[in-house]
Amino acid sequence: MENQKDPLIRIKDVTYEYVKEEEQTRIRALESVSLDVEKGSFISITGKNGSGKSTLAKNINGLLVPTMGSITVKGLDTREDENIWEIRHTVGMVFQNPDNQIVSSIVEDDVAFGPENMGVPTDEIRQRVDDALKAVGMYEHRAKAPHLLSGGQKQRIAIAGVVAMKPECIVFDEPTALLDPKGRRDVMEIIHSLHEEGITVLLITHFMEEAVQADRMIVMDEGKIAIDKPPREIFDEQEKLEELDLAMPVSIELASGLRKAGINIPKDVIGTEELVDSICRYR
Ligand code: ADP
Ligand code: MG
Repeated sequence: MENQKDPLIRIKDVTYEYVKEEEQTRIRALESVSLDVEKGSFISITGKNGSGKSTLAKNINGLLVPTMGSITVKGLDTREDENIWEIRHTVGMVFQNPDNQIVSSIVEDDVAFGPENMGVPTDEIRQRVDDALKAVGMYEHRAKAPHLLSGGQKQRIAIAGVVAMKPECIVFDEPTALLDPKGRRDVMEIIHSLHEEGITVLLITHFMEEAVQADRMIVMDEGKIAIDKPPREIFDEQEKLEELDLAMPVSIELASGLRKAGINIPKDVIGTEELVDSICRYR
């Protein structure tokens, strides 16, 4: 049952193993992962390939269920079949490849697909589709064929399709990985505006520049949470990040280089804009 004090998502001691029947082997993709996601938060999850990020994402909306431990969404256990409908409508998912998420040959039909399947009344679907397309800046492309759009635009359509289902939380699994820099910036801007409107965001990304834009940054390693900190404190973890083979965001590396050269950049600077600001102030 939903309890006022419950976080939106509670991940408790979750271990997940893929079972390969033919070889009778098990691959442990998650090990004792615990994480509470509070409503309205913006969390980034990073970590190298194979560290378990996508497995965690799929466990959150019940596409996979924990081998051990439990996950609840609004107090509803993902293991109970009768909860799956509610869970899937609370937590939407956006994946890496927009081509795998687009199902219709006209943009607005594609965005309508989710709400139609949910049984939303026709008038309301119209409104939701228009609102969602406006939210991702694609309203003027509503009558186009998705295959004529750029990768970034297609990803924005895929996001609109999820937004039209009015989820409380969206898990983005490397949504910018296949996009050019402009597409990446557009998608990040949309993620920020959805968060500002109250949607809880879980952003899986291997771009550190994107990961530091969250309020809380999680780094995964071999199925475990290795770091869980606000991005501003991530500079303390330089050695650990190097061990995990993850690059520091360029802005943080630059800030550290400038400090060594005797320029007094505050320790908690993150992001290019802040760095530029503090250099300008130094002059
Ligand atoms: P990430 O998203 O961080 O790259 P994944 O969650 O995809 O990591 O994978 C975690 C581990 O689980 C890896 O060792 C990967 O090879 C394994 N794995 C992922 N999907 C499957 C699958 N369908 N069957 C078997 N093993 C898998
Ligand atoms: Mg992945």
